[in-house]
Amino acid sequence: MMVWNPWHGCRKKSEGCLNCYMFRRDEQFGRDSTIIKQTGEFNLPLIKSKRGGYKINCLDNPVYVCMTSDFFIEEADKWRDYIWSIIRYRKDLEFKIITKRIERFYDCIPEDWGSGYHNVTIISTCENQIRADERLPVLLEIPAVQKEIIHEPMLERIDTEKYLSGGKIECVTCGGESGDNARVCDYSWILDMREQCVRNNVSFVFKQTGAHFRMDGKEYHIAREYQMRQAKKADIDFQRAIENDSIGETYSGILMQLSKSKFRGHFTLPFDMRKYCREKGLDTVKTHAFDFIRERLAPAVIDNDGKQTPMHGHPVFIAQHATATCCRDCLQKWHYIPKGRKLTESEIIYVVGLIMEWIKKDLEKYNKDNQ
Ligand code: SF4
Repeated sequence: MMVWNPWHGCRKKSEGCLNCYMFRRDEQFGRDSTIIKQTGEFNLPLIKSKRGGYKINCLDNPVYVCMTSDFFIEEADKWRDYIWSIIRYRKDLEFKIITKRIERFYDCIPEDWGSGYHNVTIISTCENQIRADERLPVLLEIPAVQKEIIHEPMLERIDTEKYLSGGKIECVTCGGESGDNARVCDYSWILDMREQCVRNNVSFVFKQTGAHFRMDGKEYHIAREYQMRQAKKADIDFQRAIENDSIGETYSGILMQLSKSKFRGHFTLPFDMRKYCREKGLDTVKTHAFDFIRERLAPAVIDNDGKQTPMHGHPVFIAQHATATCCRDCLQKWHYIPKGRKLTESEIIYVVGLIMEWIKKDLEKYNKDNQ
């Protein structure tokens, strides 16, 4: 993970900003946080290291943009187009843009945004119910390839069920507030949000407890160095499964397109491999698929990319050629997943889901007598 702050400074926007970390830090150094100015790392993703490569590379993914400001703040309007051009150029990096000003989205996107850049996740933060009801309808409606929500600092129990149910949100992250004046964060609010995520198949991350944490009615003051550790210890993160109706439709659409390709469409499992799938069971085949994809397709750098998937030897290999998930070039061309960076967990799940869908459909073509 990497942070890129092309500009610094902000204006407080809502309740969550009260004890803003950036304001607190600037105060220590006698700086005025309300002056919004470019930083020395304005074009950081374009800076080369002494060895010739970029200073930030795909191993640093994801890259969080504007953590000491707001990406959509008005004062940065004059600089943002240039920043978009960098984001567009560095397709190998995954940029995460967190904002409390989602209502400015349409004033701030570049002309060629279309349905969204594939390497950008738009994240709306909402600290309480009022901000959730104000910002999440906007987040749901905007065009973006990936959307997430952050409740941090989480100031109360928040009901977002109606926003999570449409399948448009990938992940929700919750956490408390840091600093001496931190407001309380109650564990039951965190657990409640987790339940909403699980019910709606949205990934969930409990990032940190904050400094003032309440559990079972008891209040705890937690030192900075333990806030993330304690949250991890709770072990309540949830990874969504990408096997729901909407992804089913997506798979059907992609498989239909692939079947029209002369090369992709000619693949089918030979008799011995259909037999193998039926004897071993699809759960076992799926486990193999996860192993192959993690090992041969997911790394950022693959020495034999383009040749890593044999044409025979396992049903998953054949399904990979049929679904254009055999190498990173095919993945980029057919599925718009950029090469040169590690696949995310969601992308791995997506690829394996598609492979298994193809295998399932191929098996269905043959009845038992005609194995
Ligand atoms: S929007 Fe973010 S950076 Fe700006 S004041 Fe609020 S918390 Fe701080």
